Amino acid sequence: MKPEKRCSFCGRPASQVKRLIAGPNVYICNECVELFHDILKEDHMVRDTKKKLPTPFEIKAELDKYVIGQERAKKIISVAVYNHYKRVFLGSKFNDVELEKSNILMIGPTGCGKTLIARVLAKFLDVPFAIADATPLTEAGYVGEDVENVIFRLLQSCNFDVERAQYGIVYIDEIDKIAKKGPNVSITRNVSGEGVQQALLKIVEGTIANVPPQGGRKHPYQEFIKVDTTNILFIAGGAFDGLDEIVKQRIQDSTMGFGADVRSKKSMRIGEILSQVTPDDLIKYGLIPEFIGRFPVLATLDDLDENALVKILVEPKNSVIKQYQKLLELDDVELEFTEDALRAIARKAMSRGTGARALKSIVEEIMVDAMFEIPSMKNLEKIIITEDVVSKGAKPMRIMKESA
Ligand code: ADP
Repeated sequence: MKPEKRCSFCGRPASQVKRLIAGPNVYICNECVELFHDILKEDHMVRDTKKKLPTPFEIKAELDKYVIGQERAKKIISVAVYNHYKRVFLGSKFNDVELEKSNILMIGPTGCGKTLIARVLAKFLDVPFAIADATPLTEAGYVGEDVENVIFRLLQSCNFDVERAQYGIVYIDEIDKIAKKGPNVSITRNVSGEGVQQALLKIVEGTIANVPPQGGRKHPYQEFIKVDTTNILFIAGGAFDGLDEIVKQRIQDSTMGFGADVRSKKSMRIGEILSQVTPDDLIKYGLIPEFIGRFPVLATLDDLDENALVKILVEPKNSVIKQYQKLLELDDVELEFTEDALRAIARKAMSRGTGARALKSIVEEIMVDAMFEIPSMKNLEKIIITEDVVSKGAKPMRIMKESA
């Protein structure tokens, strides 16, 4: 009797594998093919990323195309992201010095560009990206979302390619909402906030996370997808309402008695005050020290003033006004916003208190009638949006083509 054919790599006989592929004097089973494929894919990814790992300067230049202002934050984050991927892909070269993981904590008011920065980074680096909200997260066993769902989102973003997900970026929004609350808030909430921070710690510092394949709650006896979070870059962001008061108080306490002009601190902008935040201020706010320790890179963002909002309307590569101009260009119509109109839009956005977030909806409100009418108008050359259109709901100015 002939001996049974075996895989030349793992040694398993043909009867124990699905397929055995023959070569000249060798055999390989389907499982070894799959394994080698994975190894090659991983090699490929590491090589590709190493080859094109952009410098901090290049990362910032890309951020500059989309994010207005926030110069210091963009610089800090560019360096942190560069170091992160250098550690990930060249890590073995630094065996004698262990490089710390550089997760990033972004602090800044609503609508000032935190999520935008994270999104632009992930797109530029071509890595999977997910946004998760910290608010519904709970400790295991409580009603709400398990922290593993944060990783589930990342898996979803790359079609469950676990290998790729392990090099991705996760943005955790509203991280300030899981701060421990002060003594005058109910005790259950207090415990929960700290518990969620504890639960996130492991995932953020690097662990093998057991992710339910359908997301949602974990069930006993369920098969989990195992994801190593060691090389995932976590960026957490939050508005941290009230943190400025804590910082201001500390600065005042430390300058009191030296005759410093305490009143001048009152007129400081929130961003300016927040730029002086220390880990101790964050502990006072309700983050636990271990949690702060996992986010060694601290970047504070400025609140956006009228000038910044005007720039956001026109300067970014995909600014809302550029998008409308492009759309109308396809109808052969020019679109212009006067400087006064831009300023009026910016002021309107500021009054809504949601930073640059309101800009898009304000411009949409202004443009809806024009976008409805223009495609059926003949001989229209240009429309001009003036201040009156923005503040009084007047009709845009129309300039017709000279009839031939
Ligand atoms: P948050 O800081 O609350 O995460 P986002 O980054 O989501 O705010 O900002 C909401 C939107 O406002 C963005 O999608 C972008 O269009 C605009 N925006 C906010 N800040 C900036 C900025 N600094 N530069 C350019 N656009 C911005």
